[in-house]
Amino acid sequence: AQVNGNLTALINSRLPKKVQGLLLLIGQKAQKEGYKAYAIGGFVRDLLLGVENLDIDIVVEENAISFAEKLVKYIGGNLKTYPNFGTATLTLKDGSKIDFATARMEFYPFPAALPEVEETTIKHDLYRRDFTINTLGFKLNSPVFGDFLDFFNGKKDLEDGIIRVLYNLSFVEDPTRILRAIRFEARYGFKIEEQTLAFMENAINNNMLEQVKVSRMADELKLMLVEKTGLASFKRAMDLGIIDKIFGEIEDKKGLLKGMEISNNLLAMCKDKGIPIDEPFLIYLRTILAYCSEGVRNKFLKGMNLEKNNYDDLVYFLTEYQGILEKLIDPKFYSPSQLVSMLERFSNDSLIALTAISGSNLVKKRVFLYLEELSKISVEIKGEDLLELGLKPGPIFSEIIQNVKKEKLDGNIANKEEEILWVKSRYLPKLKDGELTDERY
Ligand code: ATP
Repeated sequence: AQVNGNLTALINSRLPKKVQGLLLLIGQKAQKEGYKAYAIGGFVRDLLLGVENLDIDIVVEENAISFAEKLVKYIGGNLKTYPNFGTATLTLKDGSKIDFATARMEFYPFPAALPEVEETTIKHDLYRRDFTINTLGFKLNSPVFGDFLDFFNGKKDLEDGIIRVLYNLSFVEDPTRILRAIRFEARYGFKIEEQTLAFMENAINNNMLEQVKVSRMADELKLMLVEKTGLASFKRAMDLGIIDKIFGEIEDKKGLLKGMEISNNLLAMCKDKGIPIDEPFLIYLRTILAYCSEGVRNKFLKGMNLEKNNYDDLVYFLTEYQGILEKLIDPKFYSPSQLVSMLERFSNDSLIALTAISGSNLVKKRVFLYLEELSKISVEIKGEDLLELGLKPGPIFSEIIQNVKKEKLDGNIANKEEEILWVKSRYLPKLKDGELTDERY
């Protein structure tokens, strides 16, 4: 049977009341307006697994955009449509999102041997998906609400913990599925099915990954690395030769793996200590790119559509990190103020990456001394305090503040009172001697 049972009981027991109501409303509206709507994909997979996932994906026959436009009038929220893709995203007042996609039949190979059934369109749509465990769905239309769709034995694979593609050329057609496979494998503790693994290795060896646009590759890589099991996936990707294909042959594989492990640990440490991090994925990426050739670095930097500040920060990191590391691993070098003047030019993300790449405890100690303590030290006196001391405003003010900061970092000054005393002892004699009336000031 193509429709195995009904999921209403499961929906009622596992999904929040609000989501249940929403699904029912969508089904009522679809029925009334003459559309067919289905909940599909990761949402249904995780519903069966009992894993929380409220990213609702809905496929609509025949037109998701016109349906979503009718629905938004009925239930409210903010709709964004993408006519080129036949998709729409509805953001509800509580911030939750529902994605609508028009069921697609075109472009994808479909075995003629499979008997045609009533649900031809949705079946074709599900067939073009990545793995059987992601082809599960249920009907939303009110008279058949909850009717389960499992055309490709996804439920059995879900129960057996198996990642399986739907057709032989799946990885050739879309090589990003290679990363998706190992991401789901690690996330759920599943196994990539033997034949699927062979297809995958075949696609890897035939250089299919090199055909993918850098930006798509980076998107999939990000999804993989920011998972809780991202590091395990990365190791698996190294073992399967995937990382070498994406980033060019990595010479120091051990070094890279170590760097990724440390990045992972440091990210957890930053979270613990409340040290702000901008973009964990870009920490991993810095670490990877540090082990790549110049050419690969440029290809990624240019191809990733990074925001300008991220782009600049990555370029700065890659040109500067080695020089800074040389200094940081020198046990003789530095006073706290010197450390700050070196490190304050780097973002926190860059500092974490360079600590990971160094693998050095001394570097770690110094970077965290900076992140946790030194970067928080600031000068308390202001321009008005200097005026009160009788100093004349001008470039001298910022010089004084700079010098106070240096003394404070190096532990010679502790608080505002001492700041003022220090300025008095250091600058007031000069004032008296007429030095500060020098026209430079
Ligand atoms: P997650 O739990 O990580 O969000 P998901 O399964 O919801 O996983 P999405 O990336 O949100 O994954 O994709 C939604 C659905 O679209 C998937 O369930 C899958 O069926 C399909 N899909 C996504 N990417 C691909 C792809 N590259 N090839 C085929 N199908 C895909």
